[in-house]
Formats: sequence, structure tokens, C-alpha cells
Amino acid sequence: MAEHYRVAVKNPRSRQRTEPPASLGEIFTLVRQGKRTRGEIARATGLAPSTVSLRVETLIQAGLLEERTGEAATGGRRARELQVRARAGVVAAATLGSSHLRVMLADLSAAVLHDVEAPVDVSVGPEAVVEEIWRRVVDGLAATGLEPDALRGLALGVPVPVDSRAGAIAPSVQLPGWDQVRVYDLLGAHTDAPLLVENDANLLAVAEAALAGPAVEHLLAVKVGSRIGSGIISAGVLHQGASGAAGEISHTPTGGTSAIPCSCGTDDCLESVASGSAVAARLRAAGRDVPGTAALLELARIGDPQVVAELREAGQRVGEVLAEVVNFLNPHAVAFGGVLSTSAPFVAAVRGVLFQRCLPIVSAVLDVREGRGGPSAEALGGVRLILERILTADAVDKLVAERR
Ligand SMILES: [Zn+2]
Repeated sequence: MAEHYRVAVKNPRSRQRTEPPASLGEIFTLVRQGKRTRGEIARATGLAPSTVSLRVETLIQAGLLEERTGEAATGGRRARELQVRARAGVVAAATLGSSHLRVMLADLSAAVLHDVEAPVDVSVGPEAVVEEIWRRVVDGLAATGLEPDALRGLALGVPVPVDSRAGAIAPSVQLPGWDQVRVYDLLGAHTDAPLLVENDANLLAVAEAALAGPAVEHLLAVKVGSRIGSGIISAGVLHQGASGAAGEISHTPTGGTSAIPCSCGTDDCLESVASGSAVAARLRAAGRDVPGTAALLELARIGDPQVVAELREAGQRVGEVLAEVVNFLNPHAVAFGGVLSTSAPFVAAVRGVLFQRCLPIVSAVLDVREGRGGPSAEALGGVRLILERILTADAVDKLVAERR
């Protein structure tokens, strides 16, 4: 079983320590957070410059940091800038959808080295799908000139609620049979690297919070694809809930008419009324040739009035459910991911309902928009989460001790 983890995706004020950070691992963390020079580290820690230099040298010799000559400051000499030594290792993030698998590799500075999407048939069962994921990770490592033992961590995103501590995946129609398996054992058969499995909307939230910048401490990410889910960043921390189901808005009753069956038992749940699959099904029932969400978006792009009207209606329903959540959470931003996030009529309809229904004190600070991460957002979130997990100050201290 994977150990419990709690992930600060930013540097939340509430979790800052009162004493200055000073261990090797804490100095490494400062560099990751943007302290680029020995002088900045000395100021942040209160350590003597000679002590900072000694510790930075230790981190450089351990292969974790490197120093390069930065841009010349006006009138000054060129500053030597510290950065994470990118080639110190590589992490992988795989995100599984109902029909697609994305595999991303990134170095320890979170720079993307490899990002490939491929079709996948999840009906072959979890064992075969995990085999396929691992094969694609190994292929990616080979394509970037690396061996499997270069892997320092692997994150897997799944389109269903998951308790990431235990690796327990909720029963679902999206991933039949996955609730019966211990996913950490399946992945662990291929690698000794640290693992994490997380809901895809939570990964979207991690990525969008990082891309939104430090001013956005509270964010709600909403994935609207063939299904609907959301992830919450509160005070810079991913909020997973007691069993990993926080943000699971998919099955909230809407008062609308469902267009697809759902196993949740609520016959007008948000997913069965307003997801991409539901909108496509409703159009098919009206005699339109809309096999899936891709066709739906193509028709919306050329301004098909019936399709645009259906997307507006879906946005209205999503907005009505989100308004209560947004009033409750008071986020800086609502960022959309998934295929419907690229539909302007859909996002505009959600935005309209939110600004109509949210309290002025809530809407005054609220930004509602398409996410910035695009189709790779969830994989980027996976990369960031696994890096936070493996590059804790304690983990870096341990790594340096091993390499000395
Ligand atoms: Zn449902």
C-alpha cells in the first residue's frame, strides 16, 4: 500500500514554518520554488553565505542542482543562477480515459520530454491496460534515450473517484473491473519507483492551479468530457476528501431530463443530462448524425444552431450545479478541462449562470474560463503531483545521504 501523502501544489501560507528552512532538502525546495541565487537563499534562510555555499555545493555534487550563468543584471556582473538538474531523473504520468491513454515524461524540473496520446481499449481489463501503460512508458523512455531504471516516479490518472492512499478505485462503467484490483500492486509489478493513482479531475486542478500562478490559491477545475468531474485546490493544497471523492459533482440531481443511462441511481444526474455523451445522445435521438463528442464540437465550430443550443443548455445545467459549489468554496478561478471546455457557447453559458447566481462578494474575485493546460493538462498535473511526492525535503535529504 502506498504511504499516505498530502500534497502542497503551491507554498500555502498556512503551512509555512516559523523557523527558517535550512536542511539540504529545504534548500533544494527553495530552488524549486524559484530562489535562484545563493544570496536569495541566504536571505530566505538567515544562514551565513558561507554555509549556504557549502550546502549548495553538496547538492550540486549529489547531482541534484546545477548552476549556470544567468542574464547580466543592469550595471552588474552576471549572476550565477541555480536550477534543478533536469537530467537528475525522469518521472512519468499516464492518464487513462474511456478510449484514450496519454503518457507524458518529464524531467525533475517538470519540463516535458515526451507526450503521446494513443487509443486504448479498457474492456480488456486492468491487468492488460496496466501492461499497455508500462509498455508505453518504456517506449517513451527509450525515445528520450533513457533506461527504465531512470524512472523516479509514476502517476496514473483515472476518470473515476479513487482513494489515492490505498489505490482503491470506485466501481464505475468507465473502468469495469478496476474496483476489484489493487492498482499499486499492478503497477508495482513493473517498477520500484514511487507510484500514485489519482482522479483525473484532481490532476486537472493541480495543473490549472500551477498554470494560473501564485495569486490563484483557491481553484475549482471542472472536467467536462464524456463524463463530468471536478477537483478542488484550497489554499494551494489539493483537497481529496476523506475517501478521495471530493469534487464528485457528476451525480448531483439537476431537474433536467437524462439522455444516457447512469448507474448512480439518480435519474436526472448532471452526467446523464449535461455531459458530452449526454448532449451527443440527445442530438442522435433528434435524428442528427453525432457519433461522439468530437463530431459534436465540429458541428458547434461551424455554428450548427441546434448543436449550439444543446451546448448552451448543457452549460446552463452545469452552471446551476456549480453555482452552489462556487458560493460554498469561494474560489479565485473556475477552469474547465475536457472536450467541452473548448466550446465557447458551453463555457459562456456556465459563466452566465455563475455570475447571475453567485454572491457579489464571490463573483467579484471569480475568473471563469477554459483551462490553460489543453489536452495535456491532466498529465501535467500528474507530473507535478509525483514530483511533489518524490522531492520532499526529507526525500532529498535521504537521497543526498545515499549519494555521499
Ligand atoms: Zn449519475
